[in-house]
Amino acid sequence: MITTRPAIAIRSLRRIPYHRFHSSVPRLTTDFAFVFDIDGVLIRGKKPILQAKPALELLNQHKVPYILMTNGGGVLEKTKADEVNEITGVVPPISPLQVVQSHTPIKALALNHGFNRVLVIGGDGDNARTVAGTYGFTDIIMPIDIVNAIPSVSPHHRFTAEDFAKYAKPIDLTKPVDAILVLNDPRDMNTDIQIVQDLLNSQNGLIGTARNTHHIRDLSEPSIPIIFSNNDYLYANDYNLPRFGQGAFRIITEKLYKMTNKLKKHQTLQSFILGKPFKIQYDFAHHVLIDWRHKLINDEIMSHHQILPKLGVEPVETPFKKIYMVGDNPASDIKGANDNGWESVLLKTGVYKDADYDTMVAKPTVGIFNNVEDAVIKILESHNVKV
Ligand SMILES: [Mg+2]
Repeated sequence: MITTRPAIAIRSLRRIPYHRFHSSVPRLTTDFAFVFDIDGVLIRGKKPILQAKPALELLNQHKVPYILMTNGGGVLEKTKADEVNEITGVVPPISPLQVVQSHTPIKALALNHGFNRVLVIGGDGDNARTVAGTYGFTDIIMPIDIVNAIPSVSPHHRFTAEDFAKYAKPIDLTKPVDAILVLNDPRDMNTDIQIVQDLLNSQNGLIGTARNTHHIRDLSEPSIPIIFSNNDYLYANDYNLPRFGQGAFRIITEKLYKMTNKLKKHQTLQSFILGKPFKIQYDFAHHVLIDWRHKLINDEIMSHHQILPKLGVEPVETPFKKIYMVGDNPASDIKGANDNGWESVLLKTGVYKDADYDTMVAKPTVGIFNNVEDAVIKILESHNVKV
C-alpha cells in the first residue's frame, strides 16, 4: 500500500496509546503479568513445547505483559530471544528486552556502579567479553588475556595457540581490576580458580600482588567484589547423572578463600549471587516487566532502550496486582516466586514429576498444570479475559 502521509506524522501518532484510537481493541490488561522460565516451559533443549506458541500469542493478542526469566546465560539476550523465537515460532517474536538471563541484572550494574576494569569468567570463546561489552563495560579482561601475557600464572592451562590468536587481547597489567563477574560455567576451571583467588587476595585488584592482611578487620571481604551470576551447582544434560554447574565454581572459590584467609567457621567470602531463586533477580525482573508494560502501552515494542534500576532495589510502585511465575523447577522458579510475593505456577513439561510432590521445597500457589497453554488459559479466565 502506498501512503502519502509524512513519516514524521506516523511517528508521532505511534506515541499515543493504541487503545485511544481503537476502542474495539481490548484494553491493555494492566494489573497482572507473566514471567516464564524457558527450558521445560517453552522449549526442551532444542525442541519446541508445542503449547508455548499458542500460549504466548494469546498473551500478545490481549496485550498482557510477559517476560522470560532463565538461569541460563553465556550469550546475549538477543541470541537467547532469537533461539526461543526460532524454536517456538511465536509471532510477533519475543524482544531481547523481554529476556532476563542469570547475568542480565549486570546491565544495571554496568550503568550504576562505575567499575572501570572487570574480569569476566566463563562461557565459550570470548562470548562473555561480548556480553559484558553489550552491557556497557568498556575495559573487559578475561583469564586468557592474563595467561597470554604471563603464562606462568596458570602453568597447566588448556589454551591452544589458536585460542590465544583468536580470543586473547593484549592488556595493560598495571591497571587494577575493579570487579570479577562470573557470567557462565568456567571452561578451564583450573585457570579460572587460580586467577580469581589471586585477585580476591590482591592489593586492590592489581594482578601479581598480594594484599597485606594485618590491618584488615574483616577478611571475609575480598579485595575486589565478585559477582556470581548463577548458583545452580547441578544441572541436567544428556548424561544419566547430574553435572556440576556454575554453583560448583562458587563452592570451590569460597572454600579456597576461606582456607587462604583462615576465616572463622561462621565466616564466608562476601559475594553477590544472581539468578533464581534470589530476591535480587526477582526485583530486577519486576523492573523489566514494568518497563515492558510501558512499551506495550506506548506501542514501543521495537525500542532498544530500557529503563533499568539500581541493582538490588525493589520497585517503589508497581502497576501489577499479580505476577505469575510459570516454571518447571520447584527449587528455583517456585521457591523464588513464593519468597518474593509472586504467584507461582508449576508445569509438568520439565524437571518436575508427580512423584516429587511430597518432597518439593516449595509448592505452587496457583497449581500444577500439564503445560503452559493450560496454565495461561486458566489464569486469563480467572481475570475475566475471554479466550
Ligand atoms: Mg526450567
